[in-house]
Amino acid sequence: MNKKIIKTALCCFAVIAMIILGFTTYTYFSIKDYLDSKTVFAVVIVGVVVTLAMGIAIAGVSAFAMALYKDKENSEDKKMAQIIYGSEVAKELKDEMKMEIAKREDEGKKVPTLCVILVGNNPASVSYVTGKEKACKEIGLGSKMIHLEENTTQEELMRVVRECNEDSSIDGILVQLPLPKHLNEKEVLWAIDPNKDVDGLHPINVGKLHLGEEGFVPCTPQGIIELLKRMNVDLRGKRAVVIGRSNLVGNPVARLLMNENATVTICHSKTENIQAICKEADILVVAIGKAKFVTKDFVKEGAYVIDVGVNRNDEGKLVGDVDFDDVVDHVSAITPVPKGVGPMTITMLLKNTIQACKNAEV
Ligand code: NAP
Repeated sequence: MNKKIIKTALCCFAVIAMIILGFTTYTYFSIKDYLDSKTVFAVVIVGVVVTLAMGIAIAGVSAFAMALYKDKENSEDKKMAQIIYGSEVAKELKDEMKMEIAKREDEGKKVPTLCVILVGNNPASVSYVTGKEKACKEIGLGSKMIHLEENTTQEELMRVVRECNEDSSIDGILVQLPLPKHLNEKEVLWAIDPNKDVDGLHPINVGKLHLGEEGFVPCTPQGIIELLKRMNVDLRGKRAVVIGRSNLVGNPVARLLMNENATVTICHSKTENIQAICKEADILVVAIGKAKFVTKDFVKEGAYVIDVGVNRNDEGKLVGDVDFDDVVDHVSAITPVPKGVGPMTITMLLKNTIQACKNAEV
């Protein structure tokens, strides 16, 4: 119980006690000449007891009423932020895709197949590729993994990509990044058939995104928009700020937000007054790779915050680019890390592979 409630209860008690004491004193002086001393004593005792009982009862009732009022006020003041679990949305989408693939099989249609090309043994890349294979299996999508030696030459890798382009059993091709330093990433990505480029990094698909044409869109930005749509966030006319301008996340998500008629600002490492700009955002997307960079000083009350960052803190725990605990009481909704944007990325890869297969059938 807070001080204000206790003070109010004591005041009530004091006022009631004064009134009843006054009444008892008045009664005492009115009757003392007519009654014997024992009766007068009894009247005084009854008066004091009644005073105390009434005072305590009224103080209790007022304290209870105040506490109820305070609770109501608090619950109205502080609306809980919605935690946007991408893992749940991803599960829904995967269930839908699983049914779609099963239906295709029943109808004797081709099972879409994703081919992942991994060069070397970078532990993070190996774990991402394993995750992709597992996700394909979960929904009944075909998957093919091509694991090349760390010292694979550019020519060998280009040949593998060309073979995958020609292979009609493969619908989607993903080259796991980053490639070992001696390989030319751009040349490899540009060699992928744009119709099989399910990661959306080929210049034809990048161009289509910027022209507002149908094409493949990088999976993380696509997942972010899907999350916002599934939550029925109306992006039209809203002020969106994206921190980060990479080709993988920042740039494409900004373009997608603009395609949804949001008014978009992109911030990067050279942006001045970044806090003030972010504070204007109805939708704030953060993709910079700096643990807990965004605090409540960056966030407008009631904003939607999408945290793309994946960082390890000193204890080895996964944390986002947003200081979740600091901002959560100030926002309408926020994605957690992990279980936020991450699960949507693989899900969009599966979706794109199914789409590539369907496009090839038309
Ligand atoms: P990136 O290529 O390193 O780009 C980082 C961007 O952040 C750059 O545009 C950089 O600006 C900007 N930046 C860096 N420090 C900044 C600062 N102090 N203030 C403002 N802007 C700053 O990274 P990325 O590939 O976009 O990934 C970003 C984060 O998302 C990483 O943590 C990554 O692990 C994560 N991620 C997650 C998923 C997922 O599925 N959950 C997918 C992809 C990426 P400049 O351009 O000026 O250098």
